[in-house]
Amino acid sequence: MAASPTSAFSPNDRGHVCLSFDFDGPSLWMQRRMTSPTPISRGEFGAVAVPRILRLLAERDITATFFIPGHTIESYPDECRMVADAGHEVALHGYAHELNTVLTPERETWVMGRAIELVERLTGVRPTGYRAPSGELTMQTIDTLLAHGIRYDSSMMGDDYRPYRVRRGDRFPEDGPAEWGEVTPLVELPFSWTLDDYPYLEFVTFKRMLMPGLRRPEEMFANFTGDVRWMVREVEAGVCNVVFHPQVIGRGHRLLALEAWLDEIADLGVAFTRMDAIAAAFDDGVLFGVEPRPR
Ligand SMILES: [Zn+2]
Repeated sequence: MAASPTSAFSPNDRGHVCLSFDFDGPSLWMQRRMTSPTPISRGEFGAVAVPRILRLLAERDITATFFIPGHTIESYPDECRMVADAGHEVALHGYAHELNTVLTPERETWVMGRAIELVERLTGVRPTGYRAPSGELTMQTIDTLLAHGIRYDSSMMGDDYRPYRVRRGDRFPEDGPAEWGEVTPLVELPFSWTLDDYPYLEFVTFKRMLMPGLRRPEEMFANFTGDVRWMVREVEAGVCNVVFHPQVIGRGHRLLALEAWLDEIADLGVAFTRMDAIAAAFDDGVLFGVEPRPR
C-alpha cells in the first residue's frame, strides 16, 4: 500500500465505512419555507434522536461525522455539545441549510464564514469538511470552499469507493465534447442518494410532488449492505460514505435496523472512520479504493 512516509494513517485493507449524520433540523424545513409548527416539529425531532444515536455509536466505539448547520448549533447548543464531546467530527452544512443555487456570492461568503465560526466555537477546531445543503454544489461554492481553505466536500457522486479531486471550470458546449476544468486541491468524498436515508424513509408532500418514503428500513439497509459487500470483495481499502439524518433514522424501528446493520457490516471487517481522517490521509498520499482488488 503506497502511503507517504509522513502519514500516520494506515488504511484498512477491507475498506472504510464513513457514517455521516446531517443534523439539519429545523433549517432543512426553513429552506423549503415550511415553517408552520408541524414541519418545524419534524426538524425538532432530530434533537430528540441525537442522544439516542450517540448512545448507539458509543456502545460500538464508533466515531462518525456530523454535518451541522450553524443555525442548528445556535438553536440546539446542548445536543451539538454532546456530539462534539463524544469525539465525533463536526463539519459544515450551511448556516440555515441554504440552497447554494440561489445565493449571491456575497451571501454565500457570509454563510460560509458564519458556519465556520460557529463550528469552530463549538469544537475548538476549524472544520475541514463540507456537505452542501440538499447536495446542491455550485461552481461558486467550490470557489468559496477553496477560498476558506476547506479540505473536503461530500456533495457529489462522481465515484463510489474512491476519494477524488474536485474540478472547477468544466464546460459543456452542446456541439462538442465536455471540456473538463482544472483539478483543484479540494478532496471529494462522494455520497449517493442510494446511500442516504432521506429518500428511502422520509414522507414529504411538496406543492407539486410527493416523496413517498416510509419504506422498511431493512430494505434500505439491504441496499447499503450490498454496496459494502461489493466493496469488500472487489476493492482494496475502499471508502463507502453513508448519509443519515437524526430526524429520519431516530425512530425506534429504524434504530433497531441501524444497530443490526452496523453489527452486520462490522463482521465484514470494515473500519468505521471519520471523514476528516480519510480526507487528510488522501492528501498525505494514502491510496484508497484500488480496483480491481489485487488477488
Ligand atoms: Zn441537509
